[in-house]
Amino acid sequence: MLTIQSNISLKPYNTFGIDALSRYFIEINAEEDLQTLYQLAELQRLDKLILGGGSNIVLTQDFGGLTIKISIKGIEQIREDNAHVWLKVGAGESWHGLVLHCVERGYGGIENLALIPGTVGAAPIQNIGAYGVELKDTFQELCAVEVATGQKLVFSKTDCQFGYRDSIFKQHAKERYFITSVTLRLNKTPVFRTEYGDIQKTLEQMGVKEPSIRAISEAVIKIRRSKLPDPAELGNAGSFFKNPEILKIDHAALQTDYPEMPSYPIDTTTVKIPAGWLIEQCGWKGKRLGNVGVHARQALVLVNYGGGTGLEIRQLSEKIQQSVQARFGIKLQPEVNFV
Ligand SMILES: Cc1cc2nc3c(=O)[nH]c(=O)nc-3n(C[C@H](O)[C@H](O)[C@H](O)COP(=O)(O)OP(=O)(O)OC[C@H]3O[C@@H](n4cnc5c(N)ncnc54)[C@H](O)[C@@H]3O)c2cc1C
Repeated sequence: MLTIQSNISLKPYNTFGIDALSRYFIEINAEEDLQTLYQLAELQRLDKLILGGGSNIVLTQDFGGLTIKISIKGIEQIREDNAHVWLKVGAGESWHGLVLHCVERGYGGIENLALIPGTVGAAPIQNIGAYGVELKDTFQELCAVEVATGQKLVFSKTDCQFGYRDSIFKQHAKERYFITSVTLRLNKTPVFRTEYGDIQKTLEQMGVKEPSIRAISEAVIKIRRSKLPDPAELGNAGSFFKNPEILKIDHAALQTDYPEMPSYPIDTTTVKIPAGWLIEQCGWKGKRLGNVGVHARQALVLVNYGGGTGLEIRQLSEKIQQSVQARFGIKLQPEVNFV
């Protein structure tokens, strides 16, 4: 039985804590519920907003259509061989819950992605990544339902065209599919990734001599808690912008004026610049404009101090983009999704 609610505040459903109204709201707990939705002809004409945990969206206005919160649960082991296990996971499962499930069972591959908020179904949308690991490294396939037709489809890794915080679901397939489940292939013999960020240093501080999946996940949780604001206390959506990738030749030119500009090589011609550094150089770190601002410890994170609107967040982000563009000639691209 599907319950459609009307005029629902989406404040509890987005980590920025933005108080926008949705004209209609429905929670989907099983794939069959989506099929039922397709039999309700009057719903077909409505605009649709697909929602997971709301940790990567900015609601810039009230939504006049139907918000569909995907809460499909279930973690099923569908295959196993000597080296791997395959888990098919419902789109509405918590991502961090899945990481803990795998750590508990000694399945390696996603421990570096601990404590990323949101749902499993949203993880492929921007190919979530942290500490040298991305979703695509363990991704096998996903099941989806086409929004326009209700048709069921399967997408392979190649179909998804994963990139840095990117996939077809952020490009031409944006808002075209409900992702209902994701299948990952985890390692029974884990390969530890400890070289990125402060993982090695934190493991040493924790007194860990031999790395393990559990120790790495705990180190990542410790680092993230010390660096990122908890959305339960201060509204935010994590990194607001992507780290820009620029040509090495342009980076060399910029280094004449900014010799201390950090960069990470991508390939022989391209480097990645930390967006947080660019924003900090433009004087935005810790700045507050009305109810919103830039976090005092992490310039890449925009925050809602309470009562802030999505429009205020958008205006702040545009001001930041303009000053980074004016000073460095680099256009920052948002990582978050504006609605
Ligand atoms: C404190 C904090 C730290 C973060 N750290 C990281 C990080 O380290 N790395 C990283 O990559 N991200 C990070 N994020 C961003 C965010 O957690 C991820 O992008 C996450 O995958 C979003 O999941 P969600 O369920 O909240 O998606 P939502 O915000 O609900 O949705 C995001 C987009 O996906 C679409 N969508 C959601 N579910 C589905 C579905 N089932 N089918 C089809 N479309 C769907 C929505 O329409 C929307 O366009 C962070 C966010 C916060 C608040």
